[in-house]
Amino acid sequence: MARPRRILLAALFHETHSFIDEVTSLADFTIRRGGEVLQRRGDGSTLDGFLEVAEAEGWQVVPTIDYTALPSGTVEQAVFDRFRDEFDAGLRAALADGGLDGIWLALHGAMVTSACLDPEGALLAHIRAVPGCEDLPVFGVFDLHANFTAAMAAHANGLVAYRENPHTDARESAKRAAQLLARALNENSLPRMHSCNAPVMWPPTGTGTADRPMRELEAMARAIESDDPAIWAVNVVGGYSFSDVPEAGVAFCVVTTGAEAEARGALARLTETAATLRAFGLPSEWDLDDAVAEIQRLPGGPYIVVEPADNIGGGAPGDGTSVLRAFLRHEVENCAIAIADAAAVAALSDARPGDVRRISVGGKGSAIAEGPVEIEARFVSSSDGDFALEDLNSHLAASQGAHFSMGPSAVVTTGRGISVLLTSRKTPPFDLGQFRSQGIHPETLKAIGVKAAVAHRRAYDKIAKGSYTVATSGPCTSKIASLPYTQLRRPVFPIHPDDALDDR
Ligand SMILES: [Zn+2]
Repeated sequence: MARPRRILLAALFHETHSFIDEVTSLADFTIRRGGEVLQRRGDGSTLDGFLEVAEAEGWQVVPTIDYTALPSGTVEQAVFDRFRDEFDAGLRAALADGGLDGIWLALHGAMVTSACLDPEGALLAHIRAVPGCEDLPVFGVFDLHANFTAAMAAHANGLVAYRENPHTDARESAKRAAQLLARALNENSLPRMHSCNAPVMWPPTGTGTADRPMRELEAMARAIESDDPAIWAVNVVGGYSFSDVPEAGVAFCVVTTGAEAEARGALARLTETAATLRAFGLPSEWDLDDAVAEIQRLPGGPYIVVEPADNIGGGAPGDGTSVLRAFLRHEVENCAIAIADAAAVAALSDARPGDVRRISVGGKGSAIAEGPVEIEARFVSSSDGDFALEDLNSHLAASQGAHFSMGPSAVVTTGRGISVLLTSRKTPPFDLGQFRSQGIHPETLKAIGVKAAVAHRRAYDKIAKGSYTVATSGPCTSKIASLPYTQLRRPVFPIHPDDALDDR
């Protein structure tokens, strides 16, 4: 019997907000090594998707390392150096001990370090420079909020993006990417990647795939795939506007065994369409007071007050106080909001149910958001903050697995009936288990403040009577033209004058 094919596996997952002061260090990463990586089988992650295909194909998976962190500020270069060194050691050991038939990577694609604007590109270039890896099949999956670079295309054979935002298909996309690797091995043919950065950037609120422009671009991409059998995959990369890098924003890439000219033609059509539809990627937002006043006039609930400026999934601290202040100002009854504030949780560590204390809540993580708010808090409960995800297809599961820890957490009430879930660790609001595990039942509420842009929709749209995306100040503001880009290519809508775009 022939020896099984040996595939090296690694994951590097971080979306880096480079406009905030926060520095992301090694301690912020969940790191799994060797056999621990294989234990992600069954946890709903992209690695789980790969492992399912690997089992079906009878591959021998050689696990190396998995570095995964929540979106946050610029990553210390030492973190990437350590990742690369550990990965390199695993790669060279595998090559020396039985060889390899391929490499499969689970990436985010929007990482920035203190010394490198394109760590994923650097990783892929590093792989190609290792003797024996010059022509080794390199496949993988990445988030549609990547900032895709020419180096990533040049040094990989088949990277596949999620097609949906919210990312309900992350695991499925990983399976597709693994199946492309299987195809390459079984057909003994190796595709190449070609990419193009469009002169367009959208905030996260403009990258939902249920709406234009992404819906239309995705449809075009699927049509191109089905029209040309040489094209294995077409990626619509929505981009991530909060990394100050040359390639921030919209990109397209093609995985093909066909002629480069054909791929370039497809990329040009997609790019032209993105430019034509550019204004649709800047959806309008509600004035916060207008939204809460309207919710107060409407019957029933829950109504979701969505705050992209404090979008935890986009790297914001999740401690903004604007929506809580509005709930207090408008005397909203029976509503809830989660705020990340370890100090506030600690200040309640000796509280008993019914105790009332004045505490300072939130507003510490970002200089451009409203500051802390003093509230009269009635203590309800506390917990270790661990919860099991109710939805294994949520974006939280895709990167974090089936359980999430909010760290020590407390529930207090304030105002006319505002439940505030205080967590030590910021928690992307992608799963209703977050509230339910703490005794707050979201479907029974009048209003819920949600710190997200689009990714919350899978969890909240099914219980929401209505949804209001509001403009507040914070690091993930949808007004991206207000951010001080220094590295961005030119021209890019809506950062540079629109006439520069028309003259390109
Ligand atoms: Zn994403």
